[in-house]
Amino acid sequence: MELNEERQERYFIVVRSSKKGLSRGSIGRADAETAAGDLIGMVYGGGGSAKSSGTVKKQDTHPLTRHQAQLLLFVSPASRRLELLCNVQLFSAICALAQDDLVVVKHKKDFQPCLVKNLIHIGKKDKPGVLQMLGFELDLVDTQHDILSKTTAPLPFFSAADIVQVAPSHLNTRRPLRDSIALGLKRKAVSRINSMPALNSRNAKKGSIFLNTDVSSSIQSLSHSSLEVGSMAEVISLNGLTVFGVIRWIGVPEGKKNCWAGLELDNEATTCSDGTFGTKRYFTCEGNKALFVPLTNCKPDSRFLFIQNEIPKPLEPPSVTLLEDLNEDIPPVAEPDVLSHLIGRMRGIQGHFNSCYLDATLFSLFTSSVAFNRMFNRSADSEEGISHILRRDIVNRLRRTGFVPAESVMKFRKQLGCKSFATEEKDPEEFITLLLKHVLHIEPLLKIRSCGDLAQGAYTHQIIVEKNQVRAVPSVQQLLEMSFVSSDLKFEEIPSCLIVQMPRFGKKFKLFPKIIPSTELDITDTLHCFPRECFLCGHLAEYECVQCLMDHKLQPGKIKQYCTTCNTQVHIHPSRKEHTPQKLIVKDHLPEDAPLQRHQMQLFAVLCINTSHYVSFVKYGPNPRSWIFFDSMADRCGDDNNGYNVPVIRSCPEVGDFLSQSEEEMSTADVSQSSEMVRRLLCDSYMCLYQRTE
Ligand SMILES: [Zn+2]
Ligand SMILES: [Zn+2]
Repeated sequence: MELNEERQERYFIVVRSSKKGLSRGSIGRADAETAAGDLIGMVYGGGGSAKSSGTVKKQDTHPLTRHQAQLLLFVSPASRRLELLCNVQLFSAICALAQDDLVVVKHKKDFQPCLVKNLIHIGKKDKPGVLQMLGFELDLVDTQHDILSKTTAPLPFFSAADIVQVAPSHLNTRRPLRDSIALGLKRKAVSRINSMPALNSRNAKKGSIFLNTDVSSSIQSLSHSSLEVGSMAEVISLNGLTVFGVIRWIGVPEGKKNCWAGLELDNEATTCSDGTFGTKRYFTCEGNKALFVPLTNCKPDSRFLFIQNEIPKPLEPPSVTLLEDLNEDIPPVAEPDVLSHLIGRMRGIQGHFNSCYLDATLFSLFTSSVAFNRMFNRSADSEEGISHILRRDIVNRLRRTGFVPAESVMKFRKQLGCKSFATEEKDPEEFITLLLKHVLHIEPLLKIRSCGDLAQGAYTHQIIVEKNQVRAVPSVQQLLEMSFVSSDLKFEEIPSCLIVQMPRFGKKFKLFPKIIPSTELDITDTLHCFPRECFLCGHLAEYECVQCLMDHKLQPGKIKQYCTTCNTQVHIHPSRKEHTPQKLIVKDHLPEDAPLQRHQMQLFAVLCINTSHYVSFVKYGPNPRSWIFFDSMADRCGDDNNGYNVPVIRSCPEVGDFLSQSEEEMSTADVSQSSEMVRRLLCDSYMCLYQRTE
């Protein structure tokens, strides 16, 4: 075997599972490369010591610097390393962190701003076959008082993957020095190897405000707390320009009655002082930089907030090629991983500006179902085209990282063609039709034959029934059957996905206070030309009778079809003498005793609405209790102008428990005694989404 001469240390991460059994996310060191392009080297196990050696195909790996390899090695499980690596901007910012840099970490299920204190080597000392891991020692920042304080309880060492955001570097340096002096901290670089490519040094210089889409949220949580001394603020000056500065003093100046702020501006202005107002000095700064205004004229510095309606431009083209092929569809999160991967705050799709109709619909359609995956492959628009944004920035991102920032959704909304989709609350059915028809270019999901005419295409089915046609607490099964019978509709073929709209008028009025979302929908009796069972004896049916539908002796509400014998017997009865049963057409002639196949569809999501706000329930696996609840605007940080929404995903196995009961039990359940989740599912359903199981 001919070996490449190059013998310097080269590190890599496995991005595709190989035949050799190396799992995705494994980190190793390549010592040589074969002529065929395979890497020869070893893979590190837990603790950073060599676990196994051998070869791996180069195209199954992605190169890492030593520093990157050390940071990623401390991340577990291994799958999270790839998530972090894919988050190019965040990861490059993490690799460039220095002492006193501000970061936000996930700590005890909460997001916590911290200052970088030190970079710690973890594991056995470097020697051949060992790679020390790198972790971060961090100090908590007390946002309540906007001062930095050391906590009494020592924090654990954080891995790079615990850091969810990195604040722009100048955010810190612009802070008044007193903070760091008080703590006796001197700004110096943490001992480390700066090995990132040029990308991050450029970023660091630019001090970019929008480092990472995930970042914007936490920076806000630091800066939009009420204004006080040390806060960065902006003021609209008399000539209409916005000026920026740090608040140096707050109080009531001589001769005034209200609270005023003294700001040290970023730039000089001719009308400004060096810290005096009137005849009195309130603080000292360079000349022409001190501005005094009523405190109510100050707002938090919007350069550090997520700007409404504006999408931050990507900073630089990613230096690391995306690990997945653009044509690859990330599969939904596996059932056992959902609780650790998806549940919590800042999970799911972040709502913004009337987007809940869209967030809840996208979450329902794509979180657990793969019904639409195949449809991505058909669309052929450009890389920045809308279907790529949907696939790459929303669906794949949701499944891979569990969080889609509001910016991605807004980018998508703005490309939906009609401006109102980006600004107004829309109906989910309107959005679904637009999405499937014009974005994914797919054929109508449903082909419905009306009164024996030619089949018409549709993307959703609106249930239309009279209130007295079904039970007081109907199930979706009953509603669908009644809706089809009363309008003389039949499915031309079995749909791959069936989206059923509940009977409501507008957002407020609902026909039924409660609807049971049938977990399995049997559509056999609503299919045109498919063999069906006799309602009474189970043999092949040959007649259907619409007038028998509501017969109180024959399960009222259930569709009735009969074999020739039963049809005759049923209609001998005087009360049914006037009925006009219709002969059924069956495509293939079946032997009379052949077992008839039933066609069922599985419920995979329920979209709910309450007071114009849409939320979603999603079934994420075969286990009956595998239900999650999603609200893109469950909480909000900050005020209406400067805040952001906190999307939340909750686990709700109780919904599964409830749905496992009989229809009788469900319809008589006292919702005031049920959990909030069960109540919302039962009372607020707007749309039920079903897919084929086979
Ligand atoms: Zn029969
Ligand atoms: Zn009849």
